Amino acid sequence: MTKPLPPGDLSPLADVHCHLGENLARELQLAQGGSVRAVVLTAARAEEFGPIAKLCADTCAADTRPRLIPAFGVHPWYAPSAPENLEELLDRAFDTAPLGALLGEIGLDFARPKEEHAAQRALFRRQLAYAACCALAAVVHSVRSVEEVIAEVKALRRRPVLLLHALSASADQIHRLAALGGYFSFSAHALAPPRRRMRAAAAAVPDDRLLIESDWPSGSDSPAAVADALVPLAELRGVPADELARRIWANSRRFFAAAGII
Ligand SMILES: [Zn+2]
Repeated sequence: MTKPLPPGDLSPLADVHCHLGENLARELQLAQGGSVRAVVLTAARAEEFGPIAKLCADTCAADTRPRLIPAFGVHPWYAPSAPENLEELLDRAFDTAPLGALLGEIGLDFARPKEEHAAQRALFRRQLAYAACCALAAVVHSVRSVEEVIAEVKALRRRPVLLLHALSASADQIHRLAALGGYFSFSAHALAPPRRRMRAAAAAVPDDRLLIESDWPSGSDSPAAVADALVPLAELRGVPADELARRIWANSRRFFAAAGII
């Protein structure tokens, strides 16, 4: 059974993984004045770069909270239809974000049909190279591909800061990715029982690398519900939720600083 969060003021929080969805503007309005101070709005397809850039620019101009931080990239599910001129589209998208942006969502998803894996590998390598060359942090989706992700990152001469989102991995893999500069984020949905491997991964993340996410709209009812992830994480790690919230906020600030977000 999940326990409610303790009453009182919760530490500020950052939702480091949220997508475009119907009524996002309304959802963000609902989050105004709450504990969520920043939301990373993550692209899955190149067609989303424009709408994400516009929404981020609008909230930045209005100076509202939560602050939106864009992430531009092509998700492995869309690798077979990734545009040929992707780097050009990324260049243009990053030019719209003078306060910084992340690269993502990129990665490898080997739960997808085998025929797509070669296109996924090529796209992942291409986008990792872009992140390394432009000193961008990369938001990584990895399903049944953790060893391949580690190998691809290790092969880079300059390694980007990594944000591994909803990663189901062994404790040993978590530690090896942390040694490569990885941060890790989980939503309440991803940690719901019986997801034993995901829960064990969340318990194994080093204290200074843990982040939280809503994964809205598929992973939660609202970006404002990101705090729900604190409940299972506090249980799994054996610490009070309010103490964990403060630690995760400090980690979020350190991650954004490492990612060059000002
Ligand atoms: Zn995602």
